[in-house]
Amino acid sequence: SNYTKEDILKLAEEKNVKFIRMQFTDILGIVKNVAITVKQLEDALDNKIMFDGSSIDGFTRIQESDMYLRPDYDTFTIFPWRPAEGGAVARLICDVYTPDGKPFSGCPRNVLKKALKEAEEMGFDMNVGPEPEFFLFQQDETGEATTITQDDGGYFDLGPIDKGINARRDIVLALEEMGFEVEASHHEVAPGQHEIDFKYAPALKTADNIGTFKFVTKSLANEHGLHATFMPKPIFGENGSGMHVHQSLFKDGENIFYDESDKLGLSQAAYYYIGGLLKHAKAIAAITNPSVNSYKRLVPGYEAPVYVAWSSANRSALIRIPAARGNGTRLELRNPDPTANPYLAIAVMLKAGLDGIKNEIEPPKEVLENIYEMSADRKNELDIESLPANINEAVDLLLEDEVITSVLGDHVLEHFVAAKKAEWDSYRTQVSQWELDSYLNTF
Ligand code: GLN
Ligand code: MG
Ligand code: MG
Ligand code: MG
Repeated sequence: SNYTKEDILKLAEEKNVKFIRMQFTDILGIVKNVAITVKQLEDALDNKIMFDGSSIDGFTRIQESDMYLRPDYDTFTIFPWRPAEGGAVARLICDVYTPDGKPFSGCPRNVLKKALKEAEEMGFDMNVGPEPEFFLFQQDETGEATTITQDDGGYFDLGPIDKGINARRDIVLALEEMGFEVEASHHEVAPGQHEIDFKYAPALKTADNIGTFKFVTKSLANEHGLHATFMPKPIFGENGSGMHVHQSLFKDGENIFYDESDKLGLSQAAYYYIGGLLKHAKAIAAITNPSVNSYKRLVPGYEAPVYVAWSSANRSALIRIPAARGNGTRLELRNPDPTANPYLAIAVMLKAGLDGIKNEIEPPKEVLENIYEMSADRKNELDIESLPANINEAVDLLLEDEVITSVLGDHVLEHFVAAKKAEWDSYRTQVSQWELDSYLNTF
């Protein structure tokens, strides 16, 4: 790692750090933390911090509940928006270990590390760049979230500045202070919708960054009196929020997806990786699109993918090949959304791509037509399948795919499936406004 224990202790003292949040992520992708004071920092760096895992959803049973946090020194970061007078707050991202010193198999960060090790054994490093989208909504007088945006209606419009754009600027500045290289930030298609893109990085770092990004975005939006949400489809009839994931493999510092002699500038490994992603796309959807609401986004007409196909150009496809070549050669998987657990999502995408390379899975021909507008017959002729229609179908497809379930491991799989089946059951038994509108008077 770049930091030693002494470096961190010294930094904490210099920057007047009073509290450290020891962070980890649960199976459903929620960032948890145990706060310690600076007096405990040395113990924490020696992996001595314990917590009760039985209170974390899907972690452990009561009788085996003690878990240890092993901080990754390189993730030491001071939150820039806390005033130093009261003492600064820093964080460390941790791996969860069992009392007998083994990586805990229910820790998503450990799952991604396992997948990355498999890539490393094949000589590959994975680079990942995400494009998270989100909405900024107004809060009501009590601070509760609404779905009212800044840019339509509402008296805020009359003010000289759009509160949303101001908040976004502060989010970008805070991210930069925390070491992010923000490449672009812009308003998205829907009212109140924004996107902030940060530079690609090694897979583990990007997964860490995604969690940090969501936290920073929510915190700073709140300081502007706004509610940031990463739910995929908050408003019917408008574009939803995706998190496209750009991915590439490097070997000895060279991008192995690039081949200048190919017609599209892609290597055989890139084609196989695409083949693997397409083969497993329906199974990995449960992980990349893990909520009931995720599937409300994956419908035709809103720039979100619905069909399993790839294209060097068109944005209705599941996989698109951005124009950059050379070391920038990469493919963009377009179905993931920001409710995905970033560690698990990257692990399953990588596993699918590696399976393509190992088993030389040739992708089908690329599709250049707009698939949203294609007839059912034409889709049949080209053998274009649809992504799962809902989380329940997606979970069933996940369970049928042994390559993908193997990377998750039994512990994560079992708890993930149980949670998602329960979520689906709770949803499907509700009576919605749509049903009342459709049936109450008719029948
Ligand atoms: N919001 C779209 C989605 O759901 C993407 C729009 C875009 O980035 N071009 O994926
Ligand atoms: Mg974008
Ligand atoms: Mg976008
Ligand atoms: Mg994109």
